[in-house]
Parts: sequence; structure tokens; C-alpha cells
Amino acid sequence: MAMAYDPNNIFAKILRGEIPCKKLHEDEFVLAFADINPQAPVHILVIPKGAYVSAQDFGARASAAESQAIFRAIAHLTEQHGIAATGYRLISNAGVHGHQEVPHFHFHILGGRALGSMLTRS
Ligand code: 5GP
Repeated sequence: MAMAYDPNNIFAKILRGEIPCKKLHEDEFVLAFADINPQAPVHILVIPKGAYVSAQDFGARASAAESQAIFRAIAHLTEQHGIAATGYRLISNAGVHGHQEVPHFHFHILGGRALGSMLTRS
């Protein structure tokens, strides 16, 4: 069963304007901002404005408009930040095994350098 949404998670606070962020894109359904601890020259977090814990929660409950807005934002951001041609990685961590730290569904967009193989063993 999906975890209950915690309205006090960090990204909920960013959405409410209680914590600042370096905003890179905003529309009716989506906010994107720079990761505070970047793992690559481009490291962007793309989050729905709605209260979803993870990809499976979003996939089960989000509207078509919300789903489309996430991927439209990713398309826009990869072009805008110059990584559409060179390549990038999309990651969405979920739960304990996925090492999710912030329990509000998000995609990481990582790029700007060769990122190596997909997973470490640790
Ligand atoms: P997760 O492990 O949940 O997939 O990733 C959470 C990400 O959120 C991490 O990459 C972390 O650096 C980022 N993060 C955590 N707190 C903040 C914050 O207050 N502001 C921003 N911009 N990023 C944050």
C-alpha cells in the first residue's frame, strides 16, 4: 500500500514558499528547481504541485493534464539547459530500496557530463 503523504516534507515547504529554491520552471501543475546538492553540472528537480509520494502514487492518481505537464517540463528543461542533444538521465527514487529522501514525487534530471553506468553496487 502507498505511504501517506507528509505535508511537512521539504518539497511541500518549497511549494508553499516556506523554503526558497532556485526556480527553473513553473506552470499550473509543475515546479522545477536546482538541486541543493548537485551531482552533475545540470541537476534539476521536477515535481508536481499535487501531493504525491512517489511515481506509483502519481501514476495511480494524477490526471492526464498533470502527467503531461511533467513530461512537457522535462522536454523544455532539457532543451533550455543544453542537454537534450548530449544526453541526460532521469531518476525517480521511491521508498527504502530506492533511497528516496524526500517523500514528494520528483524526477531528477542529471546531465552536462558523461554519467557513467546506471547503478553503483553500494
Ligand atoms: P531523493 O533521494 O529523495 O530522490 O532526492 C532528494 C533530493 O532533494 C536530493 O538530491 C537533495 O539534494 C535534494 N534536496 C534536499 N533538500 C533540498 C532543499 O531544501 N532544496 C533543494 N533545492 N534541494 C533539496
